[in-house]
Amino acid sequence: MAATPEAEVAPARLLIVDDEVRHMEALCDTLAGHGYLVVGHAGAEAALAELRRGTFDVLLTDLVMPGMTGIELLRSALAIDPRLVGVVMTGEGSIATAVEAMRSGATDYVLKPFRLASILPVLGRAVEIGRLRRENNRLQASLRRRADELEAINRELDAFARSVSHDLRTPLNALVGFSTLLGQQVGPTLPPRERGWLAGVQQAAERMTQLIDALMRLSHMGRRTLEVGEVQVAALVRGVIAELQASRAAPPPRFLIGELPDVVADGPMLRQVFANLISNAVKFSSGRPPGREATVRIGGERDGDSVVFFVSDDGPGFDPADAERLFDAFIRLKGSEQVEGNGVGLSIVQRIVQRHGGRVWASAAPGQGATFRFSLPQEGAGPGKTKAPEVSL
Ligand code: ADP
Repeated sequence: MAATPEAEVAPARLLIVDDEVRHMEALCDTLAGHGYLVVGHAGAEAALAELRRGTFDVLLTDLVMPGMTGIELLRSALAIDPRLVGVVMTGEGSIATAVEAMRSGATDYVLKPFRLASILPVLGRAVEIGRLRRENNRLQASLRRRADELEAINRELDAFARSVSHDLRTPLNALVGFSTLLGQQVGPTLPPRERGWLAGVQQAAERMTQLIDALMRLSHMGRRTLEVGEVQVAALVRGVIAELQASRAAPPPRFLIGELPDVVADGPMLRQVFANLISNAVKFSSGRPPGREATVRIGGERDGDSVVFFVSDDGPGFDPADAERLFDAFIRLKGSEQVEGNGVGLSIVQRIVQRHGGRVWASAAPGQGATFRFSLPQEGAGPGKTKAPEVSL
């Protein structure tokens, strides 16, 4: 049977199932009188058929019925509509079954015989939970849509960067080739001013080659499939430092290495993150007088479900107002002109970290060093270990 509530905007829809027909009908009438749109059935099969025909907010079902128990009905109903909120009605004696019903997906229960005053708040809560569930589903769907859109945009940007880089290479190679030929053929005969111009062309072409390579690296990081596995971060960082020291003529800074928890990540990509951050820390804090070498600290710790790593230096730092735009491609801050680079290292870091589901952020003050942190979500990261002392390299 069906009953319509008095004029009310979008009334909540209740499906009531009770094999005691008189009880079910009385409940339907009473609740319809309280603004609900109510449909009642005396059997579980009829109720399930009703659910397949239309949507309901709340299923209010008796627990003990011939044929199918309220728990079985609830399971089948939730399989039809997972957003349905189940409330069971049970006699005082079967409270243990009510608990089982809650485990099977019921949100609440009411003890029979009940008064209207006790069932109305339970239904009110159930309807509210249903609304929140639907709202939550809607938000999750829109988040998924947004993530898909972002991924599509990123893919398009990558494709764009790739084709631009590729298309620029051919004219650039011609520029490099012809200016080199020109330099070889007539360079020595040119007056100094014109020789300078030619050198300027060659340097600009060289710089453009580097920028295109950087753009290609950035686009590659966005496309490469993540190959995730257990990574021993302490060994990885030592490898990065050893490589950096071998490739630098200048005296190395002091490295202080703290705890570096192992993580599950893409090893080569994580290596790239540390390589970019550590080489920035080294290059931006170098050039000190002997005996006052820079100190670079590297460490990490578990923080809830993530592991957060940091690389910090006591170099010139930067204005905190720039802390976010640093990660944009080709951004180099004022004062960085003397330091080699093309402004892509931090964009690559951000891209890799984001692809792992983490985030990267920087803090600094002018003249007081810079610290870069990044988080990597880890399943079951758990509470942090005891802090290991820093080791000097
Ligand atoms: P690059 O190092 O090639 O310039 P990055 O993307 O790695 O490119 O860095 C972008 C800019 O961020 C740098 O040019 C510099 O201005 C600033 N920066 C990065 N790391 C540091 C650091 N450790 N200390 C001070 N400034 C930094």
